[in-house]
Amino acid sequence: MYDLLVIGAGPGGYVAAIRAAQLGMEVAVAEKEEALGGTCLRVGCIPSKALLETTERIYEAKKGLVGAKVQGVELDLKALMAHKERVVQANTQGVEFLFRKNGITRYQGRARFLSPHEVAVGEEVLRARYILVATGSVPLIPPWAEVDYERVVTSTEALSFPEVPRRLLVVGGGAIGLELGVVWHRLGAEVTILEYADRLLPGMDGEVSRAAERVFRKEGLGIRTGVRVKAVRPEGGEAVVELEGGEVLRADRALLAVGRRPYTEGLDLERAGLGLDERGQIPVDDHLRTRVPHIYAIGDVVRGPMLAHKASEEGIAAVEHMVGGFGHVDYGALPSVVYTHPEIARVGLTEEELKARGIPYKVGRFPYSASGRARAMGETEGFVKVLAHKATDRILGVHAIGARAGDILAEAALAIFFKASAEDLGRAPHHHPSLSEILKEAALAAWEGPLHL
Ligand code: FAD
Repeated sequence: MYDLLVIGAGPGGYVAAIRAAQLGMEVAVAEKEEALGGTCLRVGCIPSKALLETTERIYEAKKGLVGAKVQGVELDLKALMAHKERVVQANTQGVEFLFRKNGITRYQGRARFLSPHEVAVGEEVLRARYILVATGSVPLIPPWAEVDYERVVTSTEALSFPEVPRRLLVVGGGAIGLELGVVWHRLGAEVTILEYADRLLPGMDGEVSRAAERVFRKEGLGIRTGVRVKAVRPEGGEAVVELEGGEVLRADRALLAVGRRPYTEGLDLERAGLGLDERGQIPVDDHLRTRVPHIYAIGDVVRGPMLAHKASEEGIAAVEHMVGGFGHVDYGALPSVVYTHPEIARVGLTEEELKARGIPYKVGRFPYSASGRARAMGETEGFVKVLAHKATDRILGVHAIGARAGDILAEAALAIFFKASAEDLGRAPHHHPSLSEILKEAALAAWEGPLHL
C-alpha cells in the first residue's frame, strides 16, 4: 500500500511525485510511455523549444549578422532533429534520475481503476491511500478533420517532418500553431496560418496579438484571420483544406492545431466513482479534489489553461493538501509565453478582460526602441504594457512582445504574486543596461510617467 499513486508522469504528475516524496510519502507513479516527462518533455514544450531556439539562429545567420558577412549557411535538418532528440532525452532521463533520487517507484504501463482504492497497471494491482490523476491531454481532432499523420498531421508529427515542406497550412493560430508555423517558415516553407478568430493568438492581449500579426506578416508568414475551416483531409499526396465560402487550399502538409482535449481513455474512471464534465475534464474543487475525497486530479485533464507550469503548481498544491490540509495555486500569476521571435507573453488580465469585468484600470507602455540594451542587441521591435488598478495602482496584468519578453515577464509574475503596485515595480532597482528596464519603465508609465520617453 503506497501513500500516493500518481497516474501520468507529465509535468503535473512527476513534479507532484517529487514533492510528495519530499514530504515523506511513499510514492508510486504509473506511466504508459517508456519515457517519463509527458507531453511537455516528449512531444511538447521541450522539443518545440529546441527547434525554435536553433532555427532562430539559422534564420538570423541567413538574414545576415551585424558586423559580419556570412556565406554558405546550409540547413542540416538531420542534425537539427538529432539535437532536438538529444535535448528530449536529457530531460526525460533527468526525470528518471529524480525519481531514483527521491525513492519513487515507477510502473510502466497503462493504469486503470479497479475500485476507488485499487489501480491495475498490467498484471500488477496497486493500492494507495491517495491517488492523483495526471493523465494530461492529446491533440483535439474535430469531426471535420481527417488526420492521416502524414499529410494532415498533429503537433507531434510537425516536430519531426523528414523534410521541409514546400507549402504548409496551419489550421489554428494559437501558441502551438504559431510556434510550429514559425519553425518551418524559418527553414524555408511557405507557411499560411488559418485562424477562425479575428486575430492571431486570441488568448493574448489584443494590442499585443495585433502587433504580433504585423511582425510575422512582415517576415513573410501567411496569416489569415476570420476564416472558418470546413474540412481538412489528405488527398492525392497533398493536404487539402476547405474554407467556408468554397475556397480550397492545397499544400504538401497541413498541421491541425485547434486545441487539445483532456485524456482519460482506458482509465475506467467510473469504477472509481468518477465521471467527466461536458468538456471531458475531470471535475475538481478548489483543492484539486475530485468528488471521491482521496482522489485528486491536476493539469491538462482538469479545468484551466493547458500549461506545463500550471500542471506542476497544481501537483504541488494537491500533495501539500493531502499532507498538510492546505495547498494553493495563484492562477492569476501564471504566465503564458509564445516562444517565437519576438516572444509574446502575458501574465494576469488582458485589457479586454478588464473591460469585460468593469475593472477601472490605467495603462503604461514602454517600447523596446527606447531601451539602450535593446538597441545594442538590434532588437528594437516590441513593447511592454503594464495594466494597473486605477485607484489602488495594484498591477493587474502585464503583456509584452519583443526579444526575450517571456524572461522579462518572470518578474512581472512575481510582482503579481506579491500583489505589488506599479509604483513598487517602477521604484525597484533594475540593472543597467538590461531588457528588464523596459518593464520598470512601463510600470513607471502606468504610475506617474516613464523616465526615458
Ligand atoms: P501530460 O504532459 O500530457 O502528461 C500526461 C501523462 O500521462 C503522459 O505521459 C501520458 O502518457 C500519461 N498517461 C495518460 N493516461 C495514462 C494511463 N491510463 N496510465 C498511465 N499513464 C497515462 N506548455 C507550456 O507551459 N509551455 C510550452 O512552451 C508548451 N509548449 C507546448 C508545445 C506543444 C507542441 C504541445 C503539444 C504542448 C505544449 N505545452 C506547453 C503544453 C504542455 O505540454 C501541457 O500543458 C503539459 O504537458 C500538461 O502536463 P500534464 O502533466 O497535465 O499532462
